[in-house]
Amino acid sequence: MSVAVIEKNKYSRAYIEEIREIVRPIIENVAKPFAAIPENEEKFPREILQALAKEGWSSVTLPEKWGGLDLGYVGLSVVAEELGKVDASTGLVYAMHVGAAQVINIFGNDDQKKRWLLPIREGSIGTFAVSEKATGGHVWYNVSQAVQDGDDYILNLEKSFTTSGGQSDFYVVQTRTAGSEDPSDHSFFIVDGHDEGITSKPWKALGVKGNCSGPLKLENVIVNRRDLVPAPALDILHGTGAVLGLNGVWLGVAQGALDATLDYVSKTVHQDFNKSLANYQVIRQKLAEVKIRISGLRAWQYDLARQLDELRESNQSLISYATEVTEHKVQATELADYAARIAMDVAGGYGYIEGVFERLYRDARGGIPMAPSNNIARDQIGKSLVGLPLELFEEGK
Ligand SMILES: Cc1cc2nc3c(=O)[nH]c(=O)nc-3n(C[C@H](O)[C@H](O)[C@H](O)COP(=O)(O)OP(=O)(O)OC[C@H]3O[C@@H](n4cnc5c(N)ncnc54)[C@H](O)[C@@H]3O)c2cc1C
Repeated sequence: MSVAVIEKNKYSRAYIEEIREIVRPIIENVAKPFAAIPENEEKFPREILQALAKEGWSSVTLPEKWGGLDLGYVGLSVVAEELGKVDASTGLVYAMHVGAAQVINIFGNDDQKKRWLLPIREGSIGTFAVSEKATGGHVWYNVSQAVQDGDDYILNLEKSFTTSGGQSDFYVVQTRTAGSEDPSDHSFFIVDGHDEGITSKPWKALGVKGNCSGPLKLENVIVNRRDLVPAPALDILHGTGAVLGLNGVWLGVAQGALDATLDYVSKTVHQDFNKSLANYQVIRQKLAEVKIRISGLRAWQYDLARQLDELRESNQSLISYATEVTEHKVQATELADYAARIAMDVAGGYGYIEGVFERLYRDARGGIPMAPSNNIARDQIGKSLVGLPLELFEEGK
């Protein structure tokens, strides 16, 4: 891997394209074939993550000291986008993994970094376990609570969705702080994914079938205080830039849908007029609309990535960009969904039968309910626009 030879200039398009050219062969050779494997419950992109890890891409945001490439959110955005182009499931697994690693990188201590970040180069995979059925998309509020026992914490809880559930080598688990009555008071534990108290349920879902995002249960899992991460309680997803990584995946899904559609319309010829679908103006208009929106979204993705990188370079919190990253999340997930719907439309009846278009159509829907769900996102953006408080908590009676 020759990223070290690149002259780092995050404002240069050539630099971004150079990262893209380096990571692309792995994605083409390993991730693309994975996407073509028939979907079933067992499917999980471990081999892809291992191939990426070997070359340092699973540690893309980490400093060299911790085995990373130190390419920041710009590097993350490139890899997430390229993965999203070929397989949304793998993209989500990857983005959640980088987000979990960033919890430790940004907020953890050296002991935690040594034990949890260095093994990522050997293929260790992490993820977030945050959402609970009891509070749904209000992910800033967990009902579950840790119990302290001397230097240990005992975790008994169930998470409603966890990407890479049952597959991860470590989980960053959010739960209410032991002994606290305050709903905004959370603790983050790094939990060994191989602990025998952890069980996962199969992921039976409409799409992104290769990402094992089913429920995850922790029963009497004991975590030593060594693995308690002193992260700020309220918004871990934004505090680590995890949402921007996921947005990069949805940008890639939109581009992947456009690429598949372009291929289809140029190759599909109606023999009565001997013209391809690309000859129909109505179709070209639709494709142009998708392309225009993708170009706008991509510019915004890399602008936000640069802003987050600059904040990290000066050791500042990423939270100041939370609202804008949330706006971008709505745009990215809805563009992926839109591009997949256009692809389905343009591919006619053949789009509807099993294959790339119907898979994209199902996969692309996945981002809309993910935290912050687009309804919650709009509610929060609107409230902040008119200066209303977010009113995040009202304890159930
Ligand atoms: C593919 C996938 C992967 C996921 N991976 C993970 C993961 O790795 N880790 C993790 O912790 N979670 C994960 N999640 C969970 C995801 O974050 C939740 O689905 C999300 O938080 C929504 O929660 P819910 O499904 O319980 O919906 P609810 O909160 O019950 O929402 C139901 C509906 O009400 C709307 N709604 C809810 N509250 C409000 C409000 N206050 N204002 C306006 N509208 C509202 C929602 O937008 C939605 O339309 C994943 C989900 C999916 C689909």
